[in-house]
Amino acid sequence: MAVYSLRTIEPTTFGSGWVSGVLSAALGLAGFSAVLCFHFPELLTTPEARALYPLPWVRALLHLVLVGAFVLGALSLSLRRNKMLGTVGVVCTLSAALLGGSRVPVEAELRQGPFLGLDWFLLNLIVYSAIFIPIERLFARLPEQGIFRPNWRTDLTYFFVSALLVQVTTILTLKPAMVLFDWAVVPNVQQAIRALPGVLQFLLLIIVADFTQYWVHRTFHAVPLLWRFHAVHHSADHMDWLAGSRLHLVDVAVTRGLTYVPIYLLGFADGPLFAYLVVVSVQATFIHANVRFAFGPLKYLVATPQFHHWHHAAEADAIDKNFAVHLPILDMIFGTAHLPDRWPSAYGISGGEQPPRGYFSQLWWPFRARK
Ligand SMILES: [Zn+2]
Ligand SMILES: [Zn+2]
Repeated sequence: MAVYSLRTIEPTTFGSGWVSGVLSAALGLAGFSAVLCFHFPELLTTPEARALYPLPWVRALLHLVLVGAFVLGALSLSLRRNKMLGTVGVVCTLSAALLGGSRVPVEAELRQGPFLGLDWFLLNLIVYSAIFIPIERLFARLPEQGIFRPNWRTDLTYFFVSALLVQVTTILTLKPAMVLFDWAVVPNVQQAIRALPGVLQFLLLIIVADFTQYWVHRTFHAVPLLWRFHAVHHSADHMDWLAGSRLHLVDVAVTRGLTYVPIYLLGFADGPLFAYLVVVSVQATFIHANVRFAFGPLKYLVATPQFHHWHHAAEADAIDKNFAVHLPILDMIFGTAHLPDRWPSAYGISGGEQPPRGYFSQLWWPFRARK
């Protein structure tokens, strides 16, 4: 057995050094990334978030993370024959410490310019894995499918890149509507919308956004040229919270850009808009999760994991069904609902051309010339 291997052959039970190794590698990489954020805040942190960080607490937490990663790494190295996880954890921790650890000073004045959302990635990863990993472990639909199921690295890369490029995708979402549809803004309509109670604005926003998203999504399935981009999302053959991140950048830009057009024209207030952004991010993640909740009659009102798992099903009856992200009633109205009282037998693309594995081959795949 190799001393350094990416493959897991040894047992992963408690006491085998696997849990400590995984935690050490994850904390070490996160700690090292956080130290990089301290060194290059203009380049690697999100301007909107910078002002909100409680820096003394962040530094204290970072210190604990680095100490924890080192101790757990040493434990894993002593327990496990494969030294990969422990070494990653210890090397990241030592590099972070050499770069100044949690004590790197930050200049008060930072310019606004192009940046990569490394802090945004860390925040998202911490929040989403803290919510979804325990839920999936406790209420798994497929308990034998672990956290590190096949192709998890591909999906984590999608998660990583989309957070890193948050500035680019935000511009691609907001600008087209503002530039191309500015002429269609009716101030009286916007005033009337903003005069509505926040809850009503939020509900209206969900309906308008999901209606638009429904038709954009359906078009991505119907037009062969567009399907190439969206097929990447459907190439996942394991469903969990991370699988929802697998979206081609063109799919993300076009879907979000078009969904934003009516939102922009109707001019919703910031509160309801922010609530919608939180709900859409959490729900889009949740409907992919490996959880067995069925939600009773509620499943006809709100899109559930079972509803969206059928959208990913590799069964003939389920092809081009359940396009909604929030409201299954849209699929019922437009004749595309499919919700049997069981779960799909398999996921992925049945028939037709299969996208390749791996982030970069999937990024290039839709552009490749076809015979
Ligand atoms: Zn789809
Ligand atoms: Zn999906």
